[in-house]
Amino acid sequence: MVKIKNQVCFMCGKKYKPEKVVFRCEKCGGSIDINYDFKEIKNLINKPTFTKAPVSHWKYWMFYPIKNLKNMITLGEGGTPLINDKFHKGRLLKNEGLNPTGSFKDRGSAVEITKAVENKVHNIYCPSTGNMGASIAAYGTRAGIRVTVYVPSGAPPVKVQQIKSYGARVVNMRGTYTNALNSVYELSEDTGAYISGDYGYRGEGEKSTGLEIIDQLNWQIPDYIVIPVGMGNHFWGIHQGLKEAKMVGLIDKFPKLVAIQASGCDTVVSSWKNNDPLPKTRKNPDTIAGAIACGKPNFGAEVLYALKQTKGLAETVTDGEILQARKELGKQGVWAEPAGAVAYAGAEKLGLSGQVVCIITGHGLKDPFAGGAIPSVY
Ligand SMILES: [Zn+2]
Repeated sequence: MVKIKNQVCFMCGKKYKPEKVVFRCEKCGGSIDINYDFKEIKNLINKPTFTKAPVSHWKYWMFYPIKNLKNMITLGEGGTPLINDKFHKGRLLKNEGLNPTGSFKDRGSAVEITKAVENKVHNIYCPSTGNMGASIAAYGTRAGIRVTVYVPSGAPPVKVQQIKSYGARVVNMRGTYTNALNSVYELSEDTGAYISGDYGYRGEGEKSTGLEIIDQLNWQIPDYIVIPVGMGNHFWGIHQGLKEAKMVGLIDKFPKLVAIQASGCDTVVSSWKNNDPLPKTRKNPDTIAGAIACGKPNFGAEVLYALKQTKGLAETVTDGEILQARKELGKQGVWAEPAGAVAYAGAEKLGLSGQVVCIITGHGLKDPFAGGAIPSVY
């Protein structure tokens, strides 16, 4: 409903028409950013109804590339709590595990599937370590779209069960997430299949994590926002949401963004530490945090750029540190899956102080036995 000016490749700057469906740049394979008429957004958010409205994903509809809100596919995503950390003064937890399918992915899926409805799509294919697949399955089948999820070996059985429960088809793949991703790309190139996953529309929806945080802080920015990085899409979405909030005058400064990865899949952090503008690839990611075990991050270059822009920080955490963080979160009523505890582990390792928002990306029920059964005295 807000006018889209154009779509632009992050890497080479090639422009695409607003209505074109483009997953990755046709020239260089880069990711696609969407540019809006920000004057129009500014007019919409100046209304008192905007600031007074309760925090929810669709409150920020004017920042999404949706033609008509009547097409909206929603399960009540977003509006997740931002609660105090019991053990660290100033630290806040954004509990994304409380989204409809148990992870932040629902923000992206709501926008991506609504766009698929607008584009009259009937079949969607998605590579996933589990969370994205579950989310796309829930929103897709609700929209009447057939969903097929390509799952790498080693995905937690609970996540696979969740995908099937929403009525999607599961294709079990040998190998890693990157193998599943490549298979879906090939399918798309050969048959024109509509793929879902870490592309432009999803990132547009994931802007709402950043927008909600500053809204919940009464349009003040925290010192740090700490984000786990797998593909990098959520990190980039949060950066874009904050950038656009600044462009339309909702905030006047930027928080430092902090990227945390598992040491067994340090694609972006190792590049950051070596001052390299492109992410490394990891053939065989090895971490308990399966949801961020992505050896070839689609949005790695974007994460590195955003780190530079926000004078951010990047660090890795070990499986032991992740499990310790999960334990600390559990003892204050927040049960996270391993990847969901990564930001908390990172904030701990970096010794961040001031106002620090940790994004808890996924629920503990997603992968309940990771790290072994919990002993009776924990
Ligand atoms: Zn390009």
